[in-house]
Amino acid sequence: MNFELSNEQQDIVSAARKFAEGEFQDRAEEFDRNESFDEAIFKKAADLGFVGVFIKEKYGGVGMGIFDANLIMEEFNVVDPGIAITIATSAFGAEVIQEFGTEEQKNRYLPPLVTGEAIMGTALTESDAGSDLAAARTSAVKEGDEWVINGSKIFISNGIRANYLLCFVRTDPDNNDRHRRHSMVMVETDRSGFKANPLKGKLGIRASETAELSFDDVRVPCSNLVGELGNGFAQATYLFNYNRIGAAAQAVGIARAALEESIKYVKQRIVFGAPLASFQATQFKIADMFTWIQAGRNLYYEAAWKIDQGIIDHKLIAAAKSFCGQMAVKCADMALQMHGGYGYYSEYKVQRLYRDAKITEIYEGTTEIEKIIMARALLS
Ligand SMILES: Cc1cc2nc3c(=O)[nH]c(=O)nc-3n(C[C@H](O)[C@H](O)[C@H](O)COP(=O)(O)OP(=O)(O)OC[C@H]3O[C@@H](n4cnc5c(N)ncnc54)[C@H](O)[C@@H]3O)c2cc1C
Repeated sequence: MNFELSNEQQDIVSAARKFAEGEFQDRAEEFDRNESFDEAIFKKAADLGFVGVFIKEKYGGVGMGIFDANLIMEEFNVVDPGIAITIATSAFGAEVIQEFGTEEQKNRYLPPLVTGEAIMGTALTESDAGSDLAAARTSAVKEGDEWVINGSKIFISNGIRANYLLCFVRTDPDNNDRHRRHSMVMVETDRSGFKANPLKGKLGIRASETAELSFDDVRVPCSNLVGELGNGFAQATYLFNYNRIGAAAQAVGIARAALEESIKYVKQRIVFGAPLASFQATQFKIADMFTWIQAGRNLYYEAAWKIDQGIIDHKLIAAAKSFCGQMAVKCADMALQMHGGYGYYSEYKVQRLYRDAKITEIYEGTTEIEKIIMARALLS
């Protein structure tokens, strides 16, 4: 593996950074405060080709590999994690359609995501089934040529914005293998019996929308089944491989922002008659942050590069996700500490980063779940 980015990759990085600085920077604090988002930013992102970048050319996208796609993810997150994740998750789950869907489903669902005409989300989590996804109870029962869906989902990104949601539903509750009890079904959000309520009051990434969903006899045609019946858990795992790297890249972006803010601040803040930067205790923090960011980036680069070569290394993906999440939380904490009392107030970006960082330890598999994955692989 070559650690130098090619000219083309460097162009991707600078285009992403330029877009994020131009569009997000001045609105980030407002969106965070109001838990809101301006769809015009998403439309511009789509116009410039930043949405669904992994979608193949034949379905309207540019067919980027996971490595290149996450260069954009990292750059967007340096500028603002809430807006970054809103744009990134606007095609959340399209990876599953592209891999497991029928040609008809690919042609129907993928092109409008790239142009920004449609938004997609993925609904896995339930109130009693988060880390233990196989415990999900939302049911889909076949009646004639339709699936009838009943149940609820929680913490669903884009639950309200989305035009369609990839839903993890229980289709075979009596199967002896609990990982074969579920399937994936596409649900258009204008179907009768579907409701989405916003969940406000998040700690961080407050520009992004999260909702709880209810399904009350929601009927979808049988042709909305994605992939093979009973293969839902495997499809969710497939999606996690991609999105755990996305969460790791997000964490590296947040940690970089924490370092950038800290460097600026410690050079100008005078304490005991000297810049904060001149004290060794400060220098050690800056050096540690730099080291951890490099280590985290190398982990996710390698995991992503391997996926692009067709190698799925579950324990490496889990290592990247868990290390980067913990690292971002630690870097954001150190950045706030270096800012002293000022960092505790919302005018300083580090306060937002401190709150935003925590999500990278929770979604796409908590730090503990990632460690379980690694330990199982190492000890088996
Ligand atoms: C802002 C936000 C956006 C989200 N977006 C989506 C989305 O778009 N789609 C979606 O489907 N879900 C989404 N989620 C849900 C997210 O993936 C879950 O919250 C996450 O998987 C954890 O599940 P849980 O909240 O039920 O926690 P739990 O599973 O109840 O875990 C609670 C704690 O117990 C620990 N734990 C669990 N099992 C074990 C074990 N075996 N050993 C040791 N410790 C354990 C966990 O690590 C955690 O610390 C989102 C969540 C948030 C907060």
